[in-house]
Amino acid sequence: MIKIRTLADLRPLPARVFYRADYNVPLDGDRVADATRIEETLPTLRRLRDAGCPVVIASHLGRPKGTRNPKYSLEPVRAKLAELLGSDVQWASDCIGDEAAAKAAALQAGEVLLLENLRFHAEEEGNDQAFAGELRKLGEVYVNDAFGASHRAHASIDALPRLFPSDHTAGGLLLAKEIDFLQKVTTHIEHPFAALLGGAKIAGKIEPLEALVKLADTLLIGGGMANTFLAAKGMRMGNSLVDGESLDVAARLLAGREAMILLPSDLTITNSLDEPTDIKTVGVADGVPHGMMAVDIGPRTISQYASQIGSARTIFWNGPMGVFEKEQFAKGTMAMAKAVAESRAISIVGGGESVEAVKASGFAEKISHISTGGGASLEFISGAALPGVEVLRV
Ligand code: ADP
Ligand code: MG
Repeated sequence: MIKIRTLADLRPLPARVFYRADYNVPLDGDRVADATRIEETLPTLRRLRDAGCPVVIASHLGRPKGTRNPKYSLEPVRAKLAELLGSDVQWASDCIGDEAAAKAAALQAGEVLLLENLRFHAEEEGNDQAFAGELRKLGEVYVNDAFGASHRAHASIDALPRLFPSDHTAGGLLLAKEIDFLQKVTTHIEHPFAALLGGAKIAGKIEPLEALVKLADTLLIGGGMANTFLAAKGMRMGNSLVDGESLDVAARLLAGREAMILLPSDLTITNSLDEPTDIKTVGVADGVPHGMMAVDIGPRTISQYASQIGSARTIFWNGPMGVFEKEQFAKGTMAMAKAVAESRAISIVGGGESVEAVKASGFAEKISHISTGGGASLEFISGAALPGVEVLRV
């Protein structure tokens, strides 16, 4: 059993809290497209404010790769958080430095300060000690609720909490909730266990995939991930998104496992994402013609996957089945949401876009556990130790 220090163990209180959240939310322009990850932090924030703590909030958003890029600013999150909290949220335009330090020091009990994107500094992903030392100045105690980032040994997740006395660090209510649920499911998995996996890429998901082929009874693959597996089998994929670096891994995973790793038998293809004038279904044996790209699973695949889901007792889903952001290419993802909702299985859906899709489908209430972490829940279920959880273990 994994047990972490919780808010109840945190000393001393009240104190200025450095709060690591995962506000890596899907954006639609400068608007938050799905606020689940923000909403899920409200219980912890309210608890800390009620205890008289000033709270300094840090998060990453997207992959700005160590440079300041307005496209990945947390400003839209600030607006949404202020609306949901019903109070002002102060702002620091950099997560370290004089402005952040001065604003953090001036915070009064119950006041909240949001720092700009941690990943504007390459040192965050580099787990850099000196950078963690700069962040350390902003809080007297440390609370982590960023479950979705806790599978990464990044500075705010790993190096930073180590700079506090251990009783000055804890997981927030969200982190504790995620671990409790996922742990309950994984200590006794009910079979058949079907894992539904999609999204853009395989890269970054290789280890959990390797673990999942041992744990699950069936892997149902869709989305860009399926494109890569199909390409690895020698299918022509036209202009589809294919994760070229992962072809060997995909082939190795498939070897001897054709019965359990199900790939689409048909695909929805289009000539353009933004201005589609030609949308049709092709069988995978025919391949995707040059100039066309696979953007959703096809109708035959939908019914095959739905029937697998229907007989499962445990379902884990990460990654949309297609480019669901466009209505024409959302059919596979929406059909899977319905199938998962209608099944009697214990169901877990994790991941920014996956959760956005399930909420948009209207079936979110019927899912046993909506996880704020995609890669993190995948890794946790496959038995990996998450760095952000390990540092908080009692
Ligand atoms: P999550 O955030 O749930 O973990 P990912 O970030 O891995 O999921 O992937 C989500 C993205 O994958 C979506 O934005 C979706 O448009 C994209 N996607 C899914 N299928 C395809 C495809 N066939 N081609 C291109 N992009 C795809
Ligand atoms: Mg995503």
